[in-house]
Amino acid sequence: MTMPTSTPGSVDSVARSVTQSTDPGAWRPTWVEVDLGAIAANVAALKAQAAAPRLMAVVKADGYGHGMVPAARAALAGGADWLAVALVEEGQTLRAAGVDAPVLVLTEPPPGAVGALLDARLTPTVYSPEFTAALDREARDRGGARVGVHLKLDTGMRRVGVPPAQWEDALRRVGAAEGLHLEGLWSHFAVADEPDHPFIAHQAREFRRGLALAASLGLRPEFAHLCNSAGTLHLHDEHHDMVRPGLAVYGLEPAPGLAGATRLRPALTWRSQLSFVKRVAAGEAVSYGLRWTAPRETTIGSVPAGYADGVTRALSDRGQVLLCGRRVPIAGTVCMDQFLVDAGELPVAAGDEVVLIGAQGDAAVTADDWAAWLGTINYEVVCGIGKRVPRRYLGP
Ligand SMILES: *Cc1c(COP(=O)(O)O)cnc(C)c1O
Repeated sequence: MTMPTSTPGSVDSVARSVTQSTDPGAWRPTWVEVDLGAIAANVAALKAQAAAPRLMAVVKADGYGHGMVPAARAALAGGADWLAVALVEEGQTLRAAGVDAPVLVLTEPPPGAVGALLDARLTPTVYSPEFTAALDREARDRGGARVGVHLKLDTGMRRVGVPPAQWEDALRRVGAAEGLHLEGLWSHFAVADEPDHPFIAHQAREFRRGLALAASLGLRPEFAHLCNSAGTLHLHDEHHDMVRPGLAVYGLEPAPGLAGATRLRPALTWRSQLSFVKRVAAGEAVSYGLRWTAPRETTIGSVPAGYADGVTRALSDRGQVLLCGRRVPIAGTVCMDQFLVDAGELPVAAGDEVVLIGAQGDAAVTADDWAAWLGTINYEVVCGIGKRVPRRYLGP
């Protein structure tokens, strides 16, 4: 017997369901709201207080979980001059979306990506002799204008970048490369978020030494840049030609109090709605492992978000969310797609709003609260919100 093509499970219906689910979780009431006006305002505030004339907004890692393309557009609307990404692929996505601003790729991709990088008109960071040579070769093969590159000096972070013993070689190599033009010179702080750390001054001095060395070789790059969010907020003597904030663009602080008088507005709110509500009796246990037992008769609410969405399992019996303008604890083990909260005697019903990160009435749960519960940093919290959670954008 042959099956009619409209039968559920047929190739047709599978194809149809694939087209329909382009918005992941379109029916499940769990979503992240991103206030693009906050991103634009944060960039404007960061730029207004900076000693540098230009600002490069870092939008890598899907705009720190906020959505790379909308975040990039909002940052540009707020006055960002440059964008920065970690990957060539991220830069390609920006270009495919029609974003035309200069984009710096912060690390060297494998040499095989050189063609794609140039096709997308991305600005490469260079530090290894091999990558610099591959780029120079490709640039010369293509003819046309020299490719502007930003040379990264390692001033003490010791992750990627030219080690101090090779600065002169690297500068001479880029200076002599016929396909390349030294447009930028930059470095990166290891401890800018610890304002009293003596290593900040060491790296700042090292960077100035690198700039002086370049000048002594007749190289005067247009853009010297050193400061991440923390440096942008409190190291005004080190801003050079451009600052390079990421986290603060999204309204978060690299360390508590670091923003000082600069008003940053968190752009992200993570919302959901109770999917199910029930009473449980004293002594009854809930969720996988039956690890949480009701100490009294209480109301348990189910929230349709789980570890597959970034509500990490380490929040089991530890995290809190907002319900009725109050903080309520997560009860028991966080599951893949759901978790439970102990609502006590709050008058709740299915459909009531739950805020995972953000404000509700006078109460708030922040990415910093999550970071404290999880022993991590707010950066990892926002980057960890899963792809399955739809992002909805509030206009600037
Ligand atoms: C991610 C990154 C930044 C932005 O850092 P924040 O602390 O988020 O401001 C700046 N520069 C480099 C090289 C980075 O990798």
